[in-house]
Amino acid sequence: MSAAAAGSSSSPAPRLEGKVALVTGGASGIGEAIVRLFREHGAKVCIADIKDEAGQKLWDSLGGDQHALFLHCDVTVEEEVSRAVDATAEKFGTLDIIVNNAGITGNKITDIRNVDFAEFRKVIDINLVGVFHGMKHAARVMIPNKRGSIISLASVASVMGGLGPHAYTASKHAVVGLTKNVAAELGKHGIRVNCVSPYAVPTALSMPYLPEDERKDDALKGFLAFVGGEANLKGVDLLPKDVAEAVLYLASDEARYVSALNLMVDGGFTSVNLNLRAFED
Ligand code: NAD
Repeated sequence: MSAAAAGSSSSPAPRLEGKVALVTGGASGIGEAIVRLFREHGAKVCIADIKDEAGQKLWDSLGGDQHALFLHCDVTVEEEVSRAVDATAEKFGTLDIIVNNAGITGNKITDIRNVDFAEFRKVIDINLVGVFHGMKHAARVMIPNKRGSIISLASVASVMGGLGPHAYTASKHAVVGLTKNVAAELGKHGIRVNCVSPYAVPTALSMPYLPEDERKDDALKGFLAFVGGEANLKGVDLLPKDVAEAVLYLASDEARYVSALNLMVDGGFTSVNLNLRAFED
């Protein structure tokens, strides 16, 4: 009898065996969860980030093995992205998956009259131009291979206004547009292009947004209680691993006919309007 038929709890078959992936912003937060899950599923992974110490530490914690690599890479600098793609392909033989995950929210000012252009530009440079650089250079390697999966991190702010600063919302809407357009071009080469849009996940990016009066001694608990209160789906906390699972799906052959999708990992948050109270107890 097979392990599955016997109801055994042995770990499932690895879903990325033999694949090579590059994860930008992979040193911490959601990116780190993606790197760890990809390694668990057999992928060889390049962690590309500007945080050298965190990236090196993550590489060490993975065993510092031959199946992972850390590279300093600022996604706003095209040559650095190009170099990271080439170094990954050189070390591991190819590039099957890129996850354009690096992102920032920028500062919290949302009064349009006071938004500093340099700050606005910085968010667009990392969140949109960085994704463009990743797509462009991954495509360079993937087109001759006639296969590949390009996944970018968007956000609930990719489909709704009012959830973040102006530049952040604009950049995330643009990631969806770029995803669809690049999917339209690369489909003929067998390359899938998708994005993933999470609701609030506790990381260094989101935790500072917790309102002052919601802060508790235990910052994580306070954050989860606050965002859980605003969420549509109750009884589940959205964690980095949940986002990584959605990215894993899009990276794997299980999603072999899925392209140009913006996969919402939001428990229905952007699809329902709880203000109408149609389902009040
Ligand atoms: P994080 O701050 O924890 O991690 C972001 C990583 O990106 C860091 O390791 C950072 O060093 C790296 N990075 C920043 N600028 C970079 C650059 N120029 N070049 C290379 N690396 C750079 O943030 P996170 O919450 O893990 O966010 C990851 C992605 O998920 C972002 O695109 C973010 O917009 C998106 N997202 C996050 C949330 C959330 O609630 N945390 C929700 C929706 C979408």
